[in-house]
Amino acid sequence: MSKPILWIVIPCYNEEKVLPITAPMFLQKIKTLAEKEMVSDKSRVLFVNDGSKDATWELICKFAQEDEHFIGISQSRNRGHQNAVLAGLMEAKENGCDITISIDCDGQDDIDAMDEMVQKYLDGAEVVYGVRSRRDTDTFFKRFTAEGFYHLMNALGADIVFNHADYRLISARVLESFADYKEVNIFLRGMVPLVGFPSATVSYERHERLAGESHYPLSKMLALAFDGITSLSNKPIRLITGAGIIVSLISFIGVIWAIVQAAMGSVVAGWASTVCIVCFMGGVQLICLGVIGEYIGKIYMETKARPRYIISERTWAPYERKYHG
Ligand code: UDP
Ligand code: MG
Repeated sequence: MSKPILWIVIPCYNEEKVLPITAPMFLQKIKTLAEKEMVSDKSRVLFVNDGSKDATWELICKFAQEDEHFIGISQSRNRGHQNAVLAGLMEAKENGCDITISIDCDGQDDIDAMDEMVQKYLDGAEVVYGVRSRRDTDTFFKRFTAEGFYHLMNALGADIVFNHADYRLISARVLESFADYKEVNIFLRGMVPLVGFPSATVSYERHERLAGESHYPLSKMLALAFDGITSLSNKPIRLITGAGIIVSLISFIGVIWAIVQAAMGSVVAGWASTVCIVCFMGGVQLICLGVIGEYIGKIYMETKARPRYIISERTWAPYERKYHG
């Protein structure tokens, strides 16, 4: 078997502070892997600029001029991390790579885990998930919310790998099948397991961000969690039906109780309890409507079938599709 061509896919959004530190690390990794004869020297580091507002794209262009192993594409505007990774993976697939590894550009994920990932690929795995062995460097809050998220997702029936984010190796064969998943609401870490193929995991320690700041405040994390759950599972709708039935039963019992009380001639109880029940029911109904609305919104977006990413520039040739490196 000839040595596989590896493309490292790196989404970047306003990362001018950290790129000068991590880019040489990625380059070095490709070179050592090539020296170890594990990957081809035609391997590339692909930066995906996700509509950054700072000098990220200029930096990427500069890297591309300095070393042929660096290449970049730019999205026409910020579309979010998941779409940026997808754009990069599809670009890599279309340009004839054999394997891709997606990783964040901030150095939080251990770059050295790539050796083991490639080795597992050479041993037959088509997908290799990077799994965080420790989260010591995350704040308690981040750890608590993140781990709660994985448990919740599994409880709701979405098959995702515990403590695995978006650091993973995917072979071109898997990407070929993955391209047939046309949904607009994408949640990669839930979708990749759906494609199947032999997989393996590699555990690594998660570090601190090397520079710059996280782009995932609580609001974005919640949005991601909500997207993840609703794009992978219908269980919330079923839970709502269940909750509706239970609440109706309780109210039915309450009505009977009220009738019995009235028949026994008890004085009318205070209005407080009535108001409480009305409010409670109103709240339950609003939540139910919200969740159902969320699914309808998803259907709406899917029926539009808008493009999931739009590439406006490439470091090797603006607007041109194929890369001939
Ligand atoms: N990112 C992106 N688009 C966005 C937000 C983030 O491409 O809208 C990239 C970002 O540049 C980084 C990765 O996604 O490479 C992860 O983001 P970050 O490190 O801010 O998230 P955290 O590690 O704190 O969850
Ligand atoms: Mg990060």
